[in-house]
Amino acid sequence: MSMKKIILSFFIVIFLFSACTNKSETQNYQPENQTSVSIAEKGLDIEPDEGLEIVKNIADFTEVKENQEYNFETDNQNISQNYTCEDCLETRESYYFYRNGRLYVFDKAKKTYSLLCNKPDCSHFGETCNAFFPYDCEGMEYYKGNIYMLIRESSELDEKDNNDGLWQETLELYRMSLDGTERTRICTAATVIAQKDVIDNDFSVWYIKVHRGYLYYIYNYGTGGGNERSFYANNSNTLYRIPLDGKGQKECICTIEHGGLASAVDLFFQGSYMYFIKADFVHEGTGYGNLYRLNTESMKLEYMDIGEISCFIVNGDEIVYITLENGKYYSYNTKTWEKKVFFEPEPRGDLTYGYMLYDSNYYYFNLFNMESLEYICEVYNEQLEKVGEYDRTTFEVKNNDNELVYAYYQPGNSDYDFMITYDGSILYYLDKSLIGTGTEKFVQVKAE
Ligand SMILES: [Zn+2]
Repeated sequence: MSMKKIILSFFIVIFLFSACTNKSETQNYQPENQTSVSIAEKGLDIEPDEGLEIVKNIADFTEVKENQEYNFETDNQNISQNYTCEDCLETRESYYFYRNGRLYVFDKAKKTYSLLCNKPDCSHFGETCNAFFPYDCEGMEYYKGNIYMLIRESSELDEKDNNDGLWQETLELYRMSLDGTERTRICTAATVIAQKDVIDNDFSVWYIKVHRGYLYYIYNYGTGGGNERSFYANNSNTLYRIPLDGKGQKECICTIEHGGLASAVDLFFQGSYMYFIKADFVHEGTGYGNLYRLNTESMKLEYMDIGEISCFIVNGDEIVYITLENGKYYSYNTKTWEKKVFFEPEPRGDLTYGYMLYDSNYYYFNLFNMESLEYICEVYNEQLEKVGEYDRTTFEVKNNDNELVYAYYQPGNSDYDFMITYDGSILYYLDKSLIGTGTEKFVQVKAE
């Protein structure tokens, strides 16, 4: 996971409920600089792509006909909702973590943790190791018994075309078997042109999500820190989808408004719908936007007129979210169009209520202390009775090489939650079946 993603998640959380107190700190913009000017002058694609038709009138929303029930094999796990990293996925037996160029596996039944490689006498270094991935993995998702990964690859352009130190980077979609032994390149999801030795060429892939046959993704590349002139450079800040079988072109769903944050889009899948928020106006409350849903059957974008919101989850017909106005959580019913207060938490000392997660059993409200950087997760049942809580504050721990490494929160699904070190060597799991017993806590396991 890139440090940028972690930092951004952090800022989004801080600014919930305190949206108007401080300007500029979360804004990712920099003054126009040499990079973006150069890219624009080289005639590269900096025009926004055309998105889908937006339907604004509720009466014009079309009904969906396909089966809306959750299917583990084909439907998105929404595992990292409100948490912009896609380095963790769940299969039927395990959780997979991508850290430091390697894949680690947590076995749900045995509660063991190890590198994906099971070759005897393997040094676990280099391309012969099954756990090793030689390129930069920008995210991974489970689909129908395989792992899909977006891998970043770069190549210098031919000398004769390479007049100004240009090079090309691509995002390649790979399919990998669960044991890591079979890896197939399916297609190129994005091709971008970079300039050598320019820091602003940093790739940020904000989302990769797999759902019912498609990969959905957004990235930034060469945008010069988000300035207006090059905001859409290399098709940045644009929500696309591409078929997972590689048979078909990518489709543009919509572009992000200039000044909005691609990282705050928050994709959430349910049945034939993909819900997301998009900043159509930009103000101090970074991370807020209007709610849309893509009807994947009609391929039209439906605008849900409920005002600017952030950090939502979808539970059946209910969308639960927070607004800029105050510290309450609201819900909106997509069948009755009714909007009401969902939950009004009691103030709790120096802790601020931030984003929530939902895992089909419980709601998880995440509280944050801006001074001490402490995180607490409060757990509530469907009746909104509090059933437990746990501490998920980032901490330091020594790895096998006696180095201090950070262990930070990684949400799991309905059975486990995790803390994991940057280097992947140490995992802490919390067995969610213990929630409510008073013994729910993180347990350490080291990679074997
Ligand atoms: Zn190995």
